[in-house]
Amino acid sequence: MESPARSWREYPQRYRLEAAKCTKCGKVLYPPRVVCPACHGREFETVTLPRDGHVVAPTVVRVPPTGFEEETPLPIAVVELSNGVRLMVQVADMADPMELKIGDPVHLEFRKIQQDGEAGLLFYGHKAVRD
Ligand SMILES: [Zn+2]
Repeated sequence: MESPARSWREYPQRYRLEAAKCTKCGKVLYPPRVVCPACHGREFETVTLPRDGHVVAPTVVRVPPTGFEEETPLPIAVVELSNGVRLMVQVADMADPMELKIGDPVHLEFRKIQQDGEAGLLFYGHKAVRD
């Protein structure tokens, strides 16, 4: 049986906010890629992304994907982190999703994303929370 520590280390990078930093040109790629699109370098070091950023493109999903039926309207946003990396995340704790605006400061929290009602499975990932 695996120890919890080992399991944690083996989580995919989307659970740990790990990105690849090109050792040649310094570009940070998230999700990591095999070849740097900026300089075609193939050597990377692993860096952890900052958790703070701001909203660059808020969206409200009104037709929910399967499993999110109870969460619509579902606020989603492209968030630019403080190091310039952009990622699309669900926004948590929004009483009124229409209030989400470009420029809103947010930080990322590790949250339950989805629950499989029949199997009772929980899915975790990062959500943005407004500061
Ligand atoms: Zn590069």
